[in-house]
Amino acid sequence: MYAQLYFDYNATTPCRQEVVDSMLPYFNGDFGNASSSHHPYGWLAKSAVEEATDTIAKTLDIAATSLIYTSGSTESINMVLKGTVQKMHSKGNHIITTKTEHKAVLDCCTFLESEGCEVTYLNVNADGLLSVSELQKAMRPDTILVSIMYANNETGVLQPLEEIARLVHENGSLLFSDTTQALGKTDLTAILAQVDFACFSAHKVYGPKGIGLVYCKDNENYETLPSLIQGGGQQKGQRGGTINTPLIVGFAKAIELVYLDIAAETTRILALREQLEKGLLAIELVVSNSYSEQRLPNTVHVSFPYVDGANLLTALSRQLAVSNGSACNSASTFPSHVLVAMGIPPSLAYASLRLSIGRYTTLEEVEKAVRIITEEVTKLRETNILWERRI
Ligand code: PLP
Repeated sequence: MYAQLYFDYNATTPCRQEVVDSMLPYFNGDFGNASSSHHPYGWLAKSAVEEATDTIAKTLDIAATSLIYTSGSTESINMVLKGTVQKMHSKGNHIITTKTEHKAVLDCCTFLESEGCEVTYLNVNADGLLSVSELQKAMRPDTILVSIMYANNETGVLQPLEEIARLVHENGSLLFSDTTQALGKTDLTAILAQVDFACFSAHKVYGPKGIGLVYCKDNENYETLPSLIQGGGQQKGQRGGTINTPLIVGFAKAIELVYLDIAAETTRILALREQLEKGLLAIELVVSNSYSEQRLPNTVHVSFPYVDGANLLTALSRQLAVSNGSACNSASTFPSHVLVAMGIPPSLAYASLRLSIGRYTTLEEVEKAVRIITEEVTKLRETNILWERRI
């Protein structure tokens, strides 16, 4: 039933056992509502949430008061984009983003355009990087928000956020960065000191699904960001609804653990990525779509000319869990918008694979994956008349 080898850690990660163990008491024994202020059940839940928030804040070197819990990054992105538009309408309604953002940002921008906002979508180069001078040219006095992801979920490329932050703030605009994929894979301290807003999702860092965060660097932004969900006044009125104690506790445990051994784990993962890339790039005519120096340590993205991408994914699906783009977009029959924006022809964009490695990937699995992909690509090419006739 299940593919044996998991190479899709950018889509989601398994919950670590320590994370599951940390959450269990809060489902039944200590099941109280953190807002119940008149009995120990509530006090216990409240203190578990406070402790978890402190752990996250300490690990990421940010203020505990800068965090708002959500259901995940998609909700966080909606909260920041829609909230900023509502909050800043007297200053303007212009937003700048890039063509390679996650669909959560792009679809939110499309919605905001339908509500009267103007959105500029910046191009990227063949590496997937935006041009800082293009950003500078696009900025206007009525630009209220610049939304630029740190790590791309498909290629892993990292945008030069520190330089971007300087320009955005010189213009008096706010900067939001989708840091979903960077959490747990890079040190985010410098980035979080520069951006006004960021977002996180637990299921990308070996935590549970259904819990995320908005990070608001300044109290002023936290307190004036309009709430999208009213009711109950939880989280200083920023997001109504009973706080999910077990998932928050699990999220904090996941973040704490992932940063405990990040240096050693990054070295291990980089070595595996090198093996994986070396193996895949040995396949005839294969093209790398993730060769930028500035990128996540775990992501490999390649295209196979003369191969039908859908047939390749089908052939691999019983042996290898991989994707050809974002998991949230895998129902789409269009080529990846990220690859298209990088100038990759649709035929190559279709015939592509993203492999993302993680904590449980082994060298043996990498070698097996290279062998399987090489075999399947070879088989598919043998049935393609154009492969025979290539010059
Ligand atoms: N942003 C990026 C870069 C992502 O990779 C994802 C998930 O794939 C999201 C946003 C959405 O996250 P969530 O699944 O928590 O809604």
